[in-house]
Amino acid sequence: MTNNKTYFIANWKMYGSTSSVKTIKNVIKLSKLRKLNKAKIIYCPPFTLLADFVKKTKSSKIVIGAQDCHSSETDGAFTGSINSSMIKKTGSRYVILGHSEKRQSGDTDSEINKKIKSALKNNLSIIFCIGETLKERKNKKTDFILKRQIIKGLNKVKKLNKIIIAYEPVWAIGTGVIPKIEDLKMQIYKIKKIIKKEFKKQNPKIIYGGSVNSENIDKLNKIDNINGYLIGKSSQNSKIFIDIIKKTIN
Ligand code: PGA
Repeated sequence: MTNNKTYFIANWKMYGSTSSVKTIKNVIKLSKLRKLNKAKIIYCPPFTLLADFVKKTKSSKIVIGAQDCHSSETDGAFTGSINSSMIKKTGSRYVILGHSEKRQSGDTDSEINKKIKSALKNNLSIIFCIGETLKERKNKKTDFILKRQIIKGLNKVKKLNKIIIAYEPVWAIGTGVIPKIEDLKMQIYKIKKIIKKEFKKQNPKIIYGGSVNSENIDKLNKIDNINGYLIGKSSQNSKIFIDIIKKTIN
């Protein structure tokens, strides 16, 4: 783990109701401790709960993000969609883009690129997810896929200061399996190298996601070049989420 702030980003996916907002009260309490200055906690609940989460976390340093946005930065006739301006107006500050579950349901690299640019225009920070499938990994295409996702997803994005890259191997999401620590360290190193080369030596935060839990967190924390975690299932249980945070920040 690096010496910078460590990110703990809770991706609640399509789970949660207004009553689940109450379940994060102990995380809010924890976030107020002085040693937690070293942590950045971000909750990304479904759209319907954004405003409730913003309200509930107001007195703390926890910030809120959405899980997707439309590519249009302004309002329009797009039934069923939410744009980055609407997200910003809820008081949210982040948006997850390029998640593999959205890629699987049709988001292409160029669509993700448009969404990223729209979100930047509305001054949101972005958690930009990249990752290879099991088949791509087996075919030794990982480096090629990650490079393509980075270059196309960030096409014409000049400044990366509002971008966090989340490396999430698709085969690690929701499976209970994480990469071997040495492999993960090497992959993060390679991602950094691609970005340095393609984006004039910029050095955005890079986090890991995929089956992070309170058992494997000690192992993951041994990796010195990652800036935190994108956490799905384990973030919906505050006790487990707190455990992960405490084992990381000490
Ligand atoms: P998981 O999900 O922690 O449940 O594997 C991570 C993610 O999809 O961001």
